[in-house]
Amino acid sequence: MRSSAPTLHDARWNDWKWQFRNRITRVDQLAKAIYLSEQDKQDISFCLNTFRMAVTPYYASLMDPANPHCPIRMQAVPTVAETRVLPCDLADPLNEEGDSPAPGIVHRYPDRVLFLITRQCAMYCRHCTRRRMVGEEDHVITETALQAGIRYIRQTPAVRDVLLSGGDPLTLSDGMLERIISELRRIDHVEIIRIGTRVPVVMPMRVTPDLTRMLRKYHPIWINTHFNHPRELTPASRQACEALVNAGIPLGNQSVLLRGVNDDAAVMKELLLGLVKSRVRPYYLYQCDMSQGIGHFRTRVETGVEIMRSLIGNISGYAIPRYVIDAPGGGGKIPINPEYVVSMDEDEVVMRNYRNRIYTYPQHRES
Ligand SMILES: *Cc1c(COP(=O)(O)O)cnc(C)c1O
Ligand code: SF4
Repeated sequence: MRSSAPTLHDARWNDWKWQFRNRITRVDQLAKAIYLSEQDKQDISFCLNTFRMAVTPYYASLMDPANPHCPIRMQAVPTVAETRVLPCDLADPLNEEGDSPAPGIVHRYPDRVLFLITRQCAMYCRHCTRRRMVGEEDHVITETALQAGIRYIRQTPAVRDVLLSGGDPLTLSDGMLERIISELRRIDHVEIIRIGTRVPVVMPMRVTPDLTRMLRKYHPIWINTHFNHPRELTPASRQACEALVNAGIPLGNQSVLLRGVNDDAAVMKELLLGLVKSRVRPYYLYQCDMSQGIGHFRTRVETGVEIMRSLIGNISGYAIPRYVIDAPGGGGKIPINPEYVVSMDEDEVVMRNYRNRIYTYPQHRES
């Protein structure tokens, strides 16, 4: 008997448009992929009033069907905790609206802008920072908004780095993406174009030879992706990363520190070393921010600091991301580091190394 649920052996499995069209968006579809109690079904339906669900068949295939604490499932499947809004929660915790001089543009730092070109994602991550705008509907930026964003960049010579984000830019067609990227490339002061995408993790078949052939025409292109757990490093996702790197695109990774998913030194280390093996350079580890309904994912900051302390010195520097808090209210990303300097005065700096031993460096003196 042939099941109606898509399977690994489906001939169209490797076609990203098929993956996208067949995303799990309803509770009855989800119940075919994982075990759900009647209570789970009710809770999930209730959550879907707040923030939609969409899980690619590929990402769903990585879930442990029996375990509600499966780290893949926790990122993809709503829980009733999402409906709890804490007093400290904010709709737009990073004040992106406040720093927006043109539609879709967030200009916060002197030399670079964020350009949000779609609200659509391949999968809607339960911990998403931009829950306020992502995924309400699968809608792409309007032509007018797009042109206004590009005009702002063209008229602002300080912008030498444009970061395409959203939503997920790689859910757009190759043609639409190429139109945006080629227009940006024609602006002299735009030195680098970056894309932030979770596609290599949740829909790796999107990274086709046509896509990489297109992107490589517009170098320098940099891409940051978003792996949070070593179980996401499958043969398919690693192949997608390697295809991007082979097209000359330096690939970074931004993880979010998530309670119950990766707030553990051993899990984090396995993830980071796995990324480096796939030639992906860990870039940021974000403290989970103050968006509404994601309080259950937050850890204390000490947890992140201790994880960083366990990494620094113990594994290759290449595998170590920068731990940052994107400051509520729009202060930007602020690095949070374990403390290694014990004291610093006119004569010397006293430091602690990764093994907790104390060393002294004599200060240089003008003679
Ligand atoms: C994160 C971010 C950037 C990019 O910052 P980098 O530290 O250069 O990666 C740019 N603009 C905004 C608004 C951001 O949040
Ligand atoms: S891919 Fe990014 S923008 Fe989309 S839901 Fe996940 S975290 Fe949010």
